[in-house]
Amino acid sequence: MWQVVGHEWAVELLKRSLTNGRVAHAYLLTGPPQIGKTTLALNFAQALNCQNPEGPCGECLSCRKIAHGTHPDVRVIEGQGGTIKIDQIRALQRQAALSCTEGRWKVFILRQMEQATTEAANCLLKTLEEPPAHVILVLTASEADALPPTIVSRCQVLNLRPLTVEAVRKALQERWGVEGQRAELLARLSGGRLGWAVEAARDEAILRRRDELLDDLMELIGQGRVERFAYAQQLSRDTEAAREALGIWLSWWRDLLLMASGSSAEIANLDRAEALREMAGRYSLGQVRDFIEALRAAAWRLEHNVNARLTLEVLLLSLPRG
Ligand SMILES: [Zn+2]
Repeated sequence: MWQVVGHEWAVELLKRSLTNGRVAHAYLLTGPPQIGKTTLALNFAQALNCQNPEGPCGECLSCRKIAHGTHPDVRVIEGQGGTIKIDQIRALQRQAALSCTEGRWKVFILRQMEQATTEAANCLLKTLEEPPAHVILVLTASEADALPPTIVSRCQVLNLRPLTVEAVRKALQERWGVEGQRAELLARLSGGRLGWAVEAARDEAILRRRDELLDDLMELIGQGRVERFAYAQQLSRDTEAAREALGIWLSWWRDLLLMASGSSAEIANLDRAEALREMAGRYSLGQVRDFIEALRAAAWRLEHNVNARLTLEVLLLSLPRG
């Protein structure tokens, strides 16, 4: 049974390629963080190596080893300190040249391939051009555009989308035993990213951090240049934290837009509906739209490694006073 929640069409496509014996040597799974790309890749690796004919069974030794990250033929490779380095790709190539130890296929899952250095990406290209017969590469990335076209053109690209809020809520309740009201809030805040919702259900620090970031936002609205610059400087020290802040603020401003256009039933920040309503009354629709644009632009710049401090300064200067 495929364990992945949602992405039914992608599961169907991979299943069909298995039954037809037409498995590609390289796949690229794209989509926002924490929507299940790696889960799908691991599930596929299980299906490829399952000891039962109707795999992935999730129960045989092979499936269990893959789930626990101990299968010798299935490797997950991810950035070290935010970068996939050429040495990691060379190590992959040495392993790929060997025959399988236990499974039928050697599967290498390269997470967040956009983090690869140019040298690492070029090095991987050699394997993509002439993959050993028993090797399958599954790359993940936020979007295909973030990777060199020479890499993308050698992969079968599956573009995954966020799940519906309803699918996340249902999965939280039924699979992870999260209580109804909490499941609803987490599902809405997740924006369809089940991985985020599951993590937030397990780790209370995630919602605490979100509360802090929203409180900071409320405070910044009343503050001037000096405080805003100081905040931008501090936030820019950790790009991951900055990205997180932008995501949370974006969900807040999207809610303001919903409030302003009378669709308050769909808001994400359910637990702060009162504050949203009050704030929506203080801004014009144009101001809300402009700041959403500014947030999107800032997120794009961070994603493309534009100077984080400058990006955040520009963003916070455009935060309308309310
Ligand atoms: Zn199995």
